Amino acid sequence: MDAPVVRTTCPYCGVGCGVLATPDGRGGAGIAGDPEHPANFGRLCSKGSALGETLGLETRLLHPMLRDAGGELRQTDWDTALDVVAHGFARTVAAHGPDAVAFYLSGQLLTEDYYVANKLLKGFVGTANVDTNSRLCMASSVAGHRRAFGSDTVPGSYEDLDGADLLVLVGSNAAWCHPVLYQRMQAARGRGARMVVVDPRGTATGEDADLVLRLQPGTDAALFAGLLVHLFDHGLADADFLGRHTDGHTTALAVARVMAPDVAATAQACGLAVQDVAAFFALWADTDRTVTLYSQGVNQSVGGTDKVASILNCHLATGRIGRPGCGPFSLTGQPNAMGGREVGGLANQLAAHMGFSPAEVDRVGRFWGAARMATGEGLKAVDLFDAVADGRVRALWVMGTNPAVSLPKADAVRAAMARLDLLVVSENVLSTDTVASGAHVLLPAAAWGEKDGTVTNSERRISRQRPFLPLPGEVRPDWWAVAGVARRLGHGAAFAYDGPAAIFREHAALSAFENDGTRDFDIGGLAGLDADGYDALQPVQWPAPLGRREGTARLFAQGGFFTPDRRARLLTAAMAAASVTAARPLVLNTGRVRDQWHTMMRTGLSPRLGSHRPEPTVEVHPEDAARYGLRDGGLARVRSETGGALLRVVVTVAQRPGQIFAPIHWNDETAAQARVGALVHPLCDPVSGQPDLKATAVSIVPEAIVVSGFVLSRSRLPLPRDLFWAWAATAGGYVTRVAGPDVRSAEEGLMGALDGPGEWVRYSDTTRGVARAARIADGRLAAVVFLAEGRSAPAVDGVMPLWTADTLEPRDRLAVLAGQAATGEAPGETVCACHGVGSRALHRAIAAGCRDVEALGAATRAGTNCGSCLPELRRMLASPIPEAALSAAGT
Ligand code: SF4
Repeated sequence: MDAPVVRTTCPYCGVGCGVLATPDGRGGAGIAGDPEHPANFGRLCSKGSALGETLGLETRLLHPMLRDAGGELRQTDWDTALDVVAHGFARTVAAHGPDAVAFYLSGQLLTEDYYVANKLLKGFVGTANVDTNSRLCMASSVAGHRRAFGSDTVPGSYEDLDGADLLVLVGSNAAWCHPVLYQRMQAARGRGARMVVVDPRGTATGEDADLVLRLQPGTDAALFAGLLVHLFDHGLADADFLGRHTDGHTTALAVARVMAPDVAATAQACGLAVQDVAAFFALWADTDRTVTLYSQGVNQSVGGTDKVASILNCHLATGRIGRPGCGPFSLTGQPNAMGGREVGGLANQLAAHMGFSPAEVDRVGRFWGAARMATGEGLKAVDLFDAVADGRVRALWVMGTNPAVSLPKADAVRAAMARLDLLVVSENVLSTDTVASGAHVLLPAAAWGEKDGTVTNSERRISRQRPFLPLPGEVRPDWWAVAGVARRLGHGAAFAYDGPAAIFREHAALSAFENDGTRDFDIGGLAGLDADGYDALQPVQWPAPLGRREGTARLFAQGGFFTPDRRARLLTAAMAAASVTAARPLVLNTGRVRDQWHTMMRTGLSPRLGSHRPEPTVEVHPEDAARYGLRDGGLARVRSETGGALLRVVVTVAQRPGQIFAPIHWNDETAAQARVGALVHPLCDPVSGQPDLKATAVSIVPEAIVVSGFVLSRSRLPLPRDLFWAWAATAGGYVTRVAGPDVRSAEEGLMGALDGPGEWVRYSDTTRGVARAARIADGRLAAVVFLAEGRSAPAVDGVMPLWTADTLEPRDRLAVLAGQAATGEAPGETVCACHGVGSRALHRAIAAGCRDVEALGAATRAGTNCGSCLPELRRMLASPIPEAALSAAGT
């Protein structure tokens, strides 16, 4: 009998792609895109396609754990663990008041988990200290929406990308961070739509755009102020829309005129060429069906909310909002950042998009029958962890996120958590940097594949995440754990849910409670779903009020904003300038790489994904490389006021001089010294509280490398922290790239860390500075160390066939140390993660005559699945073929 196919949703980015999962009965599942899901119509990106490789239980937390008096985490049972949590919270509230406790949640949680956590703290404990890692992702968009529209509403739909004639991406590397949507935009370009990319960095998204504006960081508000002036001065403002549906344009325009009075002044403010700014303004002015998409480059800034306002101003001024093919569009980073917003996951909101006005507090309190409603806003993420540091918050429950890595000044955050009276962590995995910060209680949470609930994507579309695997060990859903604590605190009746459907019904009913069209978030049409209806729920865009259960594709074409007078506001906006000093002369920008997600706890388990960018890097412009003595492939130590990191140097013109870029993913679990969050300053947007993760003043110096190499191991082992290392999953275990100052001590340190049963075989050549060692146990390789002097690491590919062999032949012992077991040459850096195609095969295909991506796809399959690598394929086609690839191709 065929295994049942389960329709669910991808757990990574805010595109919210539908996934078909076919369990294999052994804990794994086949993964495919859901052709019927309106977010992706069957497509998945490299991360989504590799979900099946991340389902194992090797690193999972399967039982509740308590830290004992000796500091060791030991298995316990749920009753004991929840008693400890409940007593700890009750004791803290009794001694220090409700604001001494807090939850820090995650855009990875399901809406139902989020709802119950918010209800407990905001309704029954009496504090609004509930914030989320979504604060780091899109709080400036939320604040921008609420200021302009009176509600946190994304006006449009993904369909608008299909229908647009101009797509403007601001601070968004969608080709890597929202790949399926980017492919949808590329399809629109196929029928003639134009694309403009506004970003200080050269990104994969910009490589194929019609126009790229690499402006100075923080000057986006000036660019859109200049555009606003241009639109009014050329008679392109929609006087009718402005007059009937908005307020504030006179003041907004006057302020914009001061900042960017004309094209030339705009170009100067942004550090751009006049003709490029003029071309952008002309395109925008001439194209009615324009969608402006923006993401972290806009949001993660001290001026994030103003940047959002400057973009919304232009759409409101032209009435390009809520109509097919046009509108402003915030792309959310996480799978359920939107769902979190719906239930009050941010400390400055109550549930169902309500705030903390007395009437709203009263309404939510009556609906919940709340014993102790919070009456004012709680602490936003950075402030929350400052309160942990100074002892105002003494008990903290972290769910599904890793603040010891991801928050600004992450070293200080880690130290602060270590001082808590009670740190509770709900997690999928046994070990994270946050767990290592001294967690007292670990609660095993359901992971993707086991979760049962809903998520909301960037276009307001609610989709089901359905389980297709059983809950392993003693794993339980997060809502279940929170309800268990609520019962122990005496609130059992308000938390007597028998499953996620009951929570969803209550959430939907609250959204409609005393709403009468006054609030945007209304899913009252779904409040009557029974268990079967909830299980069968089809993707639907809110609002879906009673009588309109099919949902709503667009809002605001005819006004109807959610301010008291139903008129939108055009707002004044200021520029945000990055400041550097003589001691820290560079601006550090942070972000994502194509195939990793957040702190790599899940994507790091996939060999395919780990092979694209296997090490933590810092990208530097050639002028800065020369100025600071850096070499491509060398190491550099980056320092800020708050911390330091040791990173592999990539010299590239993708950076502007004076600016460097480092990915956020690596941490103490996955690399030696690469927690980039430790570098990031704690400055925040004053309105949204979103941290500025894009503009920290730093210094950079080269770090000498004498020896480079790799380690193969069957499991992840703690390696010496005085070396540079970063692990990635590979077939049969983990490959760890290493670098350090001297061969002998590196070899001894690594062999010590990798020691175990079996015997070591070794080879060394001191004249050539080569050291190799392999541990053989039970007839197969248990560990391999390869080191060589110089910056270029020996290739791991030569050893892989023996590493994956079940049994070694006697002659293989020598072959291992010779590194000659490979049947062909090394594949090179992985370019297409979906089909595992490396750069060497692609160079050979180009040398053999492939002239475009279609031909490359036909020859190698690269780029034929998700399309995330297409920009890289185009770059390879446009670049000279390296000498080594030519000789390998025999040309
Ligand atoms: Fe998942 Fe990729 Fe779709 Fe994002 S674009 S939801 S990561 S498959």
